[in-house]
Amino acid sequence: MSTFRFRAIEKAASRSAVKVEELGRKSLIFGDHVFNDKSMRQFLTPEAYQAVKNAQLGIKIDRRLADYIALGMKEWALSKGVTHYTHWFQPLTGTTAEKHDAFFETQFDGDPVEQFNGGQLVQQEPDASSFPNGGIRNTFEARGYTAWDPTSPAFIFGSTLCIPTVFISYTGEALDNKTPLLKAINAIDDAATEVARYFDKNVKKVTPTLGWEQEYFLVDAALAASRPDILTTGRTLLGHTAAKGQQLDDHYFGSIPTRVLNYMHDLENHCILLGIPVKTRHNEVAPNQFELAPIFEEINLAVDHNSLLMDVMKKVAEKHHFKVLFHEKPFKGVNGSGKHNNWSLATDTGINLLSPSKTPKSNLQFLTFFINTIKAVNDNEELLRSAIASASNDHRLGANEAPPAIVSVFIGQQLTKVLEELKEVTDGKLSPEEKTDLKLNVVGKIPDVLLDNTDRNRTSPFAFTGNKWEFRAVGSTANCAGPMTVLNTIVAKQLKEFKIEVDRLVEQDGLKKDEAIFNVLREYIKQSERILFEGDGYSKEWEEEAARRGLSNHKTTPEALKAKVYPESIAVFEEMQVMTKVEVEARYEIELEEYVKRIQIEGRVLGDIAKNHVIPTAIKYQNLVIENVKGLKEIFGEEEYREYAEEQMRMLKKISFHIAQVNTKVAEMVDQRKIANAVEDIEEQAKMYCHVVKPYFDIIRYHSDKLEMMVDNELWTLTKYRELLFTN
Ligand code: ADP
Ligand code: MG
Repeated sequence: MSTFRFRAIEKAASRSAVKVEELGRKSLIFGDHVFNDKSMRQFLTPEAYQAVKNAQLGIKIDRRLADYIALGMKEWALSKGVTHYTHWFQPLTGTTAEKHDAFFETQFDGDPVEQFNGGQLVQQEPDASSFPNGGIRNTFEARGYTAWDPTSPAFIFGSTLCIPTVFISYTGEALDNKTPLLKAINAIDDAATEVARYFDKNVKKVTPTLGWEQEYFLVDAALAASRPDILTTGRTLLGHTAAKGQQLDDHYFGSIPTRVLNYMHDLENHCILLGIPVKTRHNEVAPNQFELAPIFEEINLAVDHNSLLMDVMKKVAEKHHFKVLFHEKPFKGVNGSGKHNNWSLATDTGINLLSPSKTPKSNLQFLTFFINTIKAVNDNEELLRSAIASASNDHRLGANEAPPAIVSVFIGQQLTKVLEELKEVTDGKLSPEEKTDLKLNVVGKIPDVLLDNTDRNRTSPFAFTGNKWEFRAVGSTANCAGPMTVLNTIVAKQLKEFKIEVDRLVEQDGLKKDEAIFNVLREYIKQSERILFEGDGYSKEWEEEAARRGLSNHKTTPEALKAKVYPESIAVFEEMQVMTKVEVEARYEIELEEYVKRIQIEGRVLGDIAKNHVIPTAIKYQNLVIENVKGLKEIFGEEEYREYAEEQMRMLKKISFHIAQVNTKVAEMVDQRKIANAVEDIEEQAKMYCHVVKPYFDIIRYHSDKLEMMVDNELWTLTKYRELLFTN
């Protein structure tokens, strides 16, 4: 393409470039900062455009075409005032990573130019040594590289062109969140397509879909900055609960404060430009808690968009002098935050496989995918639980709030009835009458009944909500790739087995396809009954009942994570070609390390605040009271003063008691931390942090919070809950 033509394009594009402040109708500018289909058609030659499309299907691109794609991408980016580019990836740190390079380059024998070629687009070698690798790079090779993911479009963030990539070691092991997810997407595509073809031969591809719901807190930035615990750990380690919390239920769906609304408005504009289809926003249950949800998308893109969103939210918040808290439990005494993962399967023929419809045939298809998911969750409940375990999510799961640590499946009364009837299907061949009855009265009735299935059990960690599954136990800080990789992998494996069993009944036992499907589903229902639970997931009775049913109940991360490396879990990942044993074990180690570090940091910060804020302040106040007592003595004399100083003396004793408790418990905690730090084995170390170090947090907090309530408000150095939660 001639320079002249590029200039023309550049001009045209800069005329249409949109500034956040000027946004009007969102549909017009949706994805303006994304190298999407429209911009690709505009900036790529037809051949290069086709190469991207092929790459999306996994077909390799040659170097020459990669150069053309890079050229077009660069010109598009330059036309929008972009100066740098970066490979954008999601290492196992739980955040996103980027290293910016300028397009600008000087040439030895010519004028300076803006450069970007196919090599730079397709592969880069970031300095990988500072990312977690769980020993992979020690045992293999010390380098890692990032490689372009053409299924997720490049986008502009600030003045940088971001190219979504995977991040892998030189020996091919995944070092990120995206790689296993892409493999799980492949696995479920293969398995689900085969099964979907029982019902429609035209299906060639099945894509998992994800719609996440991001919950978060907004706190005034200056107030947040006054709390060392919020700044370093994302949550309050101390602080007496405010007199008013969420008990009046006046926040949920209440009117959004103007300052917050301005923030949301700005945020949504950024999202729209980035092609994140944000749809709903509202207050959540707790004061200063909010939620944002997009329209669901293909899962890989949805995961990228959630990671990107979390970055954008932080940036936009700075501008509005807010701090966003993604932590699952930033405040004691009010609800924490989660990230519901709504998941379904869509065919390339436009069908949602988890949506009941009008005809018995497509409803048998619905039931097939519905029941196979239940079976997959039943058989892998511990693995699924392990996928949502983290130090911060421990505050929700198993802590009598949000979903319990026990994984169970909620399907609602009506579908429970359908399963009950399917359980009675005759073994082997079905009589014509039974077939008709099944078609008319069981399978054929599903759409009607689902309409009045309004009972939504909010205590269930995994619920069917009409046309999708909703995995509610995912934490608000999580990268959705973790739980979604596991869910897609286990359902893929399940569907693969289903296909084998149905084919066997057809080929060996001579059953008709429908009969075979009914037969297999019947057995699955019987085998999965223990996972179905419609009652109150928070109740003590459910814990006991779940134990009787043999369901796991891992309340802490070290216990929950263990299931990742059970031989049967590794076997599932290996069979579905999602992760190798080395990769799974590396992840396990990284997550345990992460857990230890988080608790370690919290312990340190808590110790600091206790010794540098709480105790000195309490002593200062105590001295005031002592002065007061001395003064009373001076005035009333030795004989009489006690009568007037009685209450003050009691206060002095109480303050001393709590100071002593804080001080000794901090000292004990530090000692235990030292012992834990010396433990070599990471599993043992994590357990020590969990069961020996962490319990001190509550004790120290208890005494500190008592002091907070006694000490003069003017002296107390830490911003209190009432300000943190009710200012905005
Ligand atoms: P809720 O009552 O839980 O808020 P919504 O109907 O608003 O339910 O949907 C919540 C989320 O589920 C949204 O992000 C939406 O895009 C997503 N969702 C809807 N249909 C699907 C689907 N087929 N696959 C994945 N996510 C979906
Ligand atoms: Mg929801």
